[in-house]
Amino acid sequence: MTAEDLKALIRTVPDFPKPGILFRDITTLIADGAGFAATIELLATQATAARAEAIAGMEARGFIFGAAVAARLALPFLPIRKPGKLPVPVLSIDYALEYGTDTLEVDPTAIGSAQRVVIIDDLIATGGTATAAVKLLRSAGALVDHALFVIDLPDLGGANRLRALDVAVSALMD
Ligand code: 5GP
Repeated sequence: MTAEDLKALIRTVPDFPKPGILFRDITTLIADGAGFAATIELLATQATAARAEAIAGMEARGFIFGAAVAARLALPFLPIRKPGKLPVPVLSIDYALEYGTDTLEVDPTAIGSAQRVVIIDDLIATGGTATAAVKLLRSAGALVDHALFVIDLPDLGGANRLRALDVAVSALMD
């Protein structure tokens, strides 16, 4: 399956979560077994090329792709969580949204010092989430120099924000 085939499996939903937003919905991609498997193979190839020693994924859709890639490569999976979910002391980072702020948390004991962690999420838009994840993982001692996405929305500039942090960015489609 090519990236074009995979793109055809993604549903675009107008006016979600707010009027004027075209939401790229991966539910239809992962509901297609062959499409999901091909997506994971492509991401796993890129993670191997990035010399990943662990995979980090952001709650919630980053868990779907990141955990599958980690298991495919028999690598550790590091969940980057929404606030208040982990039962242990966490490292956390606040980041700006269009309106207000959000927070990501990680269990620092799950991360080896100088371990090369590759970030995986379903989609990069403004890059606010991924930028926060890079900073959070680096604050825990990880080496973060690659981030992989199923979808990049290049007009929103997120990939360039990550590159400014010396993170190489790849996506399977835009
Ligand atoms: P950013 O922080 O780059 O602006 O937004 C990316 C984050 O929001 C990702 O965690 C992603 O899951 C979610 N997101 C934003 N827009 C979309 C969208 O159109 N489709 C999907 N599937 N996720 C989105």
